[in-house]
Amino acid sequence: MEYRFDRLFIGGEWVAPIDGGVRPSIDPATGKPWGDVAYGGPRDIDRAVAAAREAFEGRWGRMAPWERAALIRKFADLYATQVDALARIETQDNGRAIRESRGDIGMHAQYYHWFASLADKQGGHTIPMDDSVHAFTTRSAVGVVGTITPWNVPLMAAAWKLGPALAAGCTVVLKPAEQTPASSLALGRLFEEAGFPPGVINIVPGDGVTAGAHLVAHPGVNKVAFTGEGETAKTILKTGADTLKKFSFELGGKAPHILFADADIENALNAATGSAWALCGQSCALGSRILVERPIYDQVVEGFRRNAGRVRVGNPMDPATHMGPQAHQQQLDKTLSYIAIGRDEGAELVTGGTQLAGDGYFVEPTVFAGVGADMRIAQEEIFGPVAAIIPFDGEDEAVAIANGTPYGLAAGLWTGDVGRAHRVAARIEAGMVWVNTYRYIRWSTPYGGVKSSGWGRENGVDALDDYLETKTTIVSTTGKFA
Ligand code: NAD
Repeated sequence: MEYRFDRLFIGGEWVAPIDGGVRPSIDPATGKPWGDVAYGGPRDIDRAVAAAREAFEGRWGRMAPWERAALIRKFADLYATQVDALARIETQDNGRAIRESRGDIGMHAQYYHWFASLADKQGGHTIPMDDSVHAFTTRSAVGVVGTITPWNVPLMAAAWKLGPALAAGCTVVLKPAEQTPASSLALGRLFEEAGFPPGVINIVPGDGVTAGAHLVAHPGVNKVAFTGEGETAKTILKTGADTLKKFSFELGGKAPHILFADADIENALNAATGSAWALCGQSCALGSRILVERPIYDQVVEGFRRNAGRVRVGNPMDPATHMGPQAHQQQLDKTLSYIAIGRDEGAELVTGGTQLAGDGYFVEPTVFAGVGADMRIAQEEIFGPVAAIIPFDGEDEAVAIANGTPYGLAAGLWTGDVGRAHRVAARIEAGMVWVNTYRYIRWSTPYGGVKSSGWGRENGVDALDDYLETKTTIVSTTGKFA
């Protein structure tokens, strides 16, 4: 399939931006442009919202749910044939190692299939009352959804929003992150090819503060589904306040990965190192704080040093590469500044800590040990390949440290004691807890955060709730005012 990136996808057509233009997109492996990508502004967002509204009130809105499901499935089947192409586009744009991009994108068709299977199962229920009334609920689509996605996992973030939105019967304006818009634009070709009615999906890359803010404030948008930073979410809430639209937020994390002394240590260690550096550290659910029970502390620190040495850092297009570059210059600067902060705070730099020489935004896998739970590198989201190892004694201290940040997205724990697994999992403040595994994420398992990590859930049947309105109808069976 041929993909183009120099046009916006609005109302089923590939159009030139009115407000924006075409800008070079940077390959983070070289720091140089790899191609030109279209960027829209407020008037392009206006066009996209109008097209989405027209589709919602027109053919798409009137389509039977099983017909919608059939189209989503067709799109999913096409998606499955394009995994390699989509993975290459995304890796070119954000530098994620191609083996990871293929693995992640290879699962997306199943997300769309699964949401398609829910499209015709969104009925309401009857409410038992006395004989004088018949009360029941029905569920209908929220309307036009503005989806705003981050640069680390553009296609995954899109799948988690478009799947439930389309299954619910909504129409969508997708605004991907300005640093990595290409793979999202490629989706337009697949929706076109699958035969979606014009305007159901519109794709407008653009800057957050112009295109993004305009989408959020737009009175024609009924809901905003956002993945990104907490600070951006606060701005979005203020920007959208006057329209009282609905919001769902998938935000940052500082996940604790807890290793008890009675765990299968080698397994736990491999999971802990793998999930500290996956996506070059640029994922919200990674175990960036490694809490280690004191009897196994030295063994785990040594294991981290050993495994860091085995990470192949380099050209992200090479299938042998484990870790590519940071996705953009700003993230590189942020990661390096946190490494400097860790040193200044007195944490022990076990390995890594420097930018690789040459072009591109490469950083070594980095390990700090002896980290205090209150240090900034243990409290703040770095979003780089920087692991912070924190020692603890016993369950109570582990739970206190785990819950001791403003975040509450994910957590992991390793233990051979099933009772402890349940006790600790129940006490941890997080939307997801993995026991003796880590980052097991699927279409059917709800994903989202508590505390400052978000509002709402993506994936699982719960995800549909955010895209549906419930109406209660109460009918008098006597024709009299009760
Ligand atoms: P970001 O908040 O900087 O940007 C996210 C999106 O918001 C981009 O599309 C951007 O253009 C847009 N945006 C920026 N300012 C805006 C504004 N004023 N109004 C409207 N839109 C605006 O986040 P990022 O740096 O792209 O992504 C990294 C963050 O995302 C991290 O904090 C990470 O933890 C989080 N994240 C969370 C999840 C999750 O599922 N919880 C998944 C991936 C990433």
